[in-house]
Amino acid sequence: MRRRLLRNGTTAVSLLVLAAVTVSCEEAGKDAPQDGAGAAKSADELQGSRSATPGHQSRSPQPAKPPAPEKVGANELAAVPVLMYHQIVEKPSSVYDRTPEAFRAELERLAREKYVPVTAGDYAAGTMDIPAGTHPVVLTFDDSTDSQLRLGADGEPVDDCAVGILREVAREHPDFKARATFFVNGGAFSATGHKTALAWLHENGFEIGNHTRDHADLAGSGADGARRQIAEGQESILRDVPGAEVASLALPFGIQPAPASVALSGSAGGTAYENRGVYLVGAGPAPSPYAASFDPAGIPRIRSAPLKGQDAQYGSAHWLDQLADGAVARYTSDGDPDRVSYPKDTSAKPGKQPGGKLRPY
Ligand SMILES: [Zn+2]
Repeated sequence: MRRRLLRNGTTAVSLLVLAAVTVSCEEAGKDAPQDGAGAAKSADELQGSRSATPGHQSRSPQPAKPPAPEKVGANELAAVPVLMYHQIVEKPSSVYDRTPEAFRAELERLAREKYVPVTAGDYAAGTMDIPAGTHPVVLTFDDSTDSQLRLGADGEPVDDCAVGILREVAREHPDFKARATFFVNGGAFSATGHKTALAWLHENGFEIGNHTRDHADLAGSGADGARRQIAEGQESILRDVPGAEVASLALPFGIQPAPASVALSGSAGGTAYENRGVYLVGAGPAPSPYAASFDPAGIPRIRSAPLKGQDAQYGSAHWLDQLADGAVARYTSDGDPDRVSYPKDTSAKPGKQPGGKLRPY
């Protein structure tokens, strides 16, 4: 029953996102594919979608004995912010872009607030590898633009691209890891070259996710067209990086195909795909992968955005404040990969397949 309600909620949200996308595309201009709307959920809907939060733990080398979960306030059924970035440029051309300074400031804030980046793949699989008392955050980048990754003559990222900034912040904050997921289209990272850029990401521990071959509207493509776009997007990644595992998909414009399950698994032209998680464009914190409300076919993301401005109520500054002050319960790790710890009085319900032994306290 609960799942059915959530499904309906998701459908309503995707329609709203669709509506908002129409507006947003007009505003965004035609230079680069832009994802749609940050908009679209009412506070109540967000409340519903975030109320489930199972947690699970990390697969990391932890001290032999993690602290008691109550000592670190572990809650592995609570919400995880999945942040969405587009271009990191000095002169933003839409609400989807951030300046390098704003991007760096957001990463610094996350590090200060004891967030540890995990990939989208590890989030959706429940294999997040973070210490007790810290919080997972998923950093995602759409559209594979040069502002995200540009390799210099030495073969390393230049300082002012997103990866360069992320690595520098990680160097300054040893607990804050340089991990992220890049949702790429065909012909990604043109300044560096698709093959060179993707190979670098893979070799350096970043996840390469699928954003379809042509940044297609998967509802407008029909189910077969959507399968083709997803399969060909995956092929273009694996052609250049045969060792990669493609298990995460960001929906162009946040638009789900019909049925939504087409984005999770299928095949076209002899290529089969299977995604652990499919990511939307809006508009609030995501449930823990161990919460009953977790829906792998439509995982919400939060647009990186300042506290004021267009649709700021769907942006990262707003939601990180809500997570910091407890208005929204935040996933806090117990440091034990084999247990899912949470306070007995938490409102979220564990899902069907918890990744570890449930440990309410
Ligand atoms: Zn996009």
